[in-house]
Amino acid sequence: MPTLTLYDNYTRSLRAFKPLHPDGEVGLYTCGPTVYDYQHIGNYRTFLFEDGLKRVLRWNGYAVKHVMNITDVGHLTSDADSGEDKMEKGARRTGKTAWEIAELYTVAFLDDLQKLAIDAPTILSRATDHIAEQIAFIADLERKGYTYRTSDGIYFDTTKQEDYGYLARLNREGLEGGKRINLGEKRCITDFALWKFSPLGEKRQMEWESPWGVGFPGWHIECSAMAQRYLGDFFDIHCGGEDHISIHHTNEIAQTEARVGTRLANFWMHGYFLLLNDAKMAKSAGAFLRIQSLIDRGYDPLSYRYLCLTAHYRKQLTFTWDALDAAQIALDRLREGFHALPTTPAGTPDAALIERFTTEINDDLNLPRALALSWEVLRGSLDLAVKRATLARFDDVLGFRLAAWSPPEIAVSDTVRTLAEERALARKSKNWTESDRLRDAINSMGWEIEDAADGYRLKPR
Ligand code: AMP
Ligand code: ZN
Repeated sequence: MPTLTLYDNYTRSLRAFKPLHPDGEVGLYTCGPTVYDYQHIGNYRTFLFEDGLKRVLRWNGYAVKHVMNITDVGHLTSDADSGEDKMEKGARRTGKTAWEIAELYTVAFLDDLQKLAIDAPTILSRATDHIAEQIAFIADLERKGYTYRTSDGIYFDTTKQEDYGYLARLNREGLEGGKRINLGEKRCITDFALWKFSPLGEKRQMEWESPWGVGFPGWHIECSAMAQRYLGDFFDIHCGGEDHISIHHTNEIAQTEARVGTRLANFWMHGYFLLLNDAKMAKSAGAFLRIQSLIDRGYDPLSYRYLCLTAHYRKQLTFTWDALDAAQIALDRLREGFHALPTTPAGTPDAALIERFTTEINDDLNLPRALALSWEVLRGSLDLAVKRATLARFDDVLGFRLAAWSPPEIAVSDTVRTLAEERALARKSKNWTESDRLRDAINSMGWEIEDAADGYRLKPR
């Protein structure tokens, strides 16, 4: 089997993937949604990339233990550790409690995953269910001398680490020299909050006791703490969107190096942005498209999966309605082509094509080329049963649920149904002239009528 090669952003190189525990499961951690609002289709591009990775790992025979967090506290509106908690802001926007919106948007997120045929994670872990782990983590960092206190929280001292920012190849001198922003009590621009205190005299909806005072954890600590809890100090692959490289993942690595001396994951992989009108699609930018927005316009959510599969995950993709139209048409044709292949006799996949498919997907998840190969198979001259079996096997990775699809039933109008009934009566009384006349009338209305032993069938022409 061709070796699975993946692009690791930590080493900035393509590396052969070898599991850390050859006999166990591959450990995979993917940063999940911040549940203060619906996720937009840009977010789902990243989740689709991660789903593709998981499917490719499975294709290669690995069992995958996939942990995804739900950020339901601590993600502030500004990455510089100022601003409001997004959850509290979302609660105000909707008139619900922070706990209620966390539940509402988590359910909506899981529902969208289902619609996109994204497999649910093995473990879905909420930040608010893991406060004790986060406090224990921060306490360890404090013991090791990596923290300091300001009037609004406990901060990680990034100057204690020589190689802080290696993942992002951060130029610290450049950052320091060019800074014009108000650091507040932070000692260094890259330092980040581990624990924030509830503002004096204010009761937050989400707050907890801690050794440092009542408050809530920072965003970065939740992922390191939950990843370590479920996957250990050093696991196989950590993923997220490209925006996580410079801050969130950089800080996850810093904390973990400080606590246990590892960079947390062997591979760091990132999905590149979905753009809309030349800008990153973002919730904070106001208008954004949801999966439901696509459904409302008559698209099948899997057309969005198809669109994402046409671009490699390490290239940005610009969303346009024309591109989604093309994806919907292509998906329909693929489904129809597959559906027209006979289910009996059952065939077996073609070994040479499976090998070619593996070569594509194992080349850093080249799903666009794997998708192109599906078309080659569908249009080619293989034995039909082999064709069906090969495409069904490809679908384990592409995820279009081909085998479960059947053409939508087109409603027969009352007029056509009445004509068909009248024709059945005419045939019964052997009135062939009338029966032919009615058939012509039915044809002229766009329907074909087929006589069968048990009556008749109507099919669109
Ligand atoms: P969030 O809910 O903001 O925490 O984001 C969830 C995931 O979506 C993260 O992995 C982000 O990096 C990713 N993401 C955010 N915006 C985009 C975008 N426009 N295109 C692709 N991925 C994105
Ligand atoms: Zn994360």
